[in-house]
Amino acid sequence: METLKEQKFAALDTKREFYQLIINGERKDSLNGGVYTVINPATGEKAAEVSKASIEDAEEAVRAARNAFDHGNWRHFPVNKRSRTLNKIAGIMRSRFNELVELEILNTGKSLAAAQGQVMQAIEDFEFYAGAIVGHRGAVNSMPGSFQNVTEKEPVGVCAQIIPWNYPLMMAAWKIAPAIAAGCSVIVKPASPTPLTALVLGEICMEAGVPAGVVNVVPGAGSDVGNFLVEHRDVDKVAFTGSTAIGKDIMAKASQTLKRVTLELGGKSPNIIFEDADIDAAVDGSLFGIFYNSGQSCEARSRLYVHEHVYDEFIAKFIEKTKRLKLGNPFSKDTHVGAIINRDQLNVIDGYVKSAVADGATVLTGGKEAKIDGYENGFWYEPTVIINVNHEMEAVKEEIFGPVAVVMEFKDEKEAIHLANDSQYGLGSALWTKDHARATRVSKQIEAGIVMINCPFSAFPGTPFGGYKQSGFGRELCIETLDLYTETKSMISYYGSRPLNPFAL
Ligand code: NAP
Ligand code: MG
Repeated sequence: METLKEQKFAALDTKREFYQLIINGERKDSLNGGVYTVINPATGEKAAEVSKASIEDAEEAVRAARNAFDHGNWRHFPVNKRSRTLNKIAGIMRSRFNELVELEILNTGKSLAAAQGQVMQAIEDFEFYAGAIVGHRGAVNSMPGSFQNVTEKEPVGVCAQIIPWNYPLMMAAWKIAPAIAAGCSVIVKPASPTPLTALVLGEICMEAGVPAGVVNVVPGAGSDVGNFLVEHRDVDKVAFTGSTAIGKDIMAKASQTLKRVTLELGGKSPNIIFEDADIDAAVDGSLFGIFYNSGQSCEARSRLYVHEHVYDEFIAKFIEKTKRLKLGNPFSKDTHVGAIINRDQLNVIDGYVKSAVADGATVLTGGKEAKIDGYENGFWYEPTVIINVNHEMEAVKEEIFGPVAVVMEFKDEKEAIHLANDSQYGLGSALWTKDHARATRVSKQIEAGIVMINCPFSAFPGTPFGGYKQSGFGRELCIETLDLYTETKSMISYYGSRPLNPFAL
């Protein structure tokens, strides 16, 4: 006989017409009946309808999360049991891998290869934290005299997790996995354009046996629901991934209740090609570095610096291959570059390109909206390479968040490092050289959280991911993330045989 719990958490189809909020272990319509339409960016057509959380729904989610944390048993489960549940989540995701990939593509217009990689990584995040949490523990610290100090890691509490639209499922996994591994309760606020896979992940968490209230998912407007969560007195931590501007606003508002804050923000990452690089490898890696995910990556290597001796060769090869990138059917394994999330973002990208041209830059390829047969109503931009730029231009200073590379020449290592660091951001960076000593020397001087050396990839479960400077603080995807979802309790005890009498009275 089915138990009540199994009935309640029975899975629905991954792909369907309508998705509801996840609050307190149940799928729910929003209290005011709000619904909105999610668009497939590749076609401009409706992907699905979604319940739109209001502040009242967010309040209910906070109450559920608070209750689960204060009175529930998730945080008190033996760590092995939490670990098993995380593995179960990963297992269900694996069994629905193709469906999750399809749903992610439908909601983002990203290419099949990109979606497959991201869904797989989301699965591996849960597996990583299932293991990592078992080894995450306190310490016994040595003390003078007859004293002993034991520290324990306790979950930080109720966490609001606000995420962007560029990697909807992966960002949800980066947030949910370490938090619930640590014993926290979460309220996930997906980005408005892309709630679908985060909602299904919430359902999968319930199906795997995560208790009611531990994982809540409330798509709604950032300025409304997001802001409400940031200001809420019963929320202990805000973990935010998104733009630097909103990150600053969140940090200011969270200060009113001294919430714990972690911020994964924007970037304008440098990509340095030295004269001794394997130029073909640098071309291929640099293409991926900027055009992967249509350039809608926080760690997109969007500023290319090429040594003057190899500049002409690099540019010729880079442009030739940029022109060969395939846009179009996101479900095709041959597509390299998917759609742009929406019309607004398309206009932002085009605005930056136009501003560069007005400032005197030269567009070598791309530079306009892409027109693709069969996808006329979707949002597409041509992979774009711009030269004759300088560090005064908006297109070089600001994150464009689209398939646009700016390229400059440099003369020597010192100038390359100076140019790379001349930015408010400090998230990713890449360098291409066959000289190991140079790679080490330059890496140590780059002001960025991540340095990719002869490598186009930046994110693997277990490797710290996060920024310096205005790219934010806190690291995700790694062991130390667990420290950011826990408090350290320090217990000091006295074990001497004579009573202590500090005032000697
Ligand atoms: P965004 O505009 O900053 O929005 C991010 C999230 O914040 C969304 O869920 C948004 O909700 C919400 N939000 C908006 N205003 C808010 C407010 N006042 N209070 C609380 N929440 C609010 O960023 P995006 O356009 O979605 O994503 C692009 C940005 O994310 C880029 O800057 C990119 O670099 C960054 N990013 C960083 C990383 C990283 O790991 N460092 C990874 C991915 C992306 P709505 O959707 O409803 O507005
Ligand atoms: Mg935005």
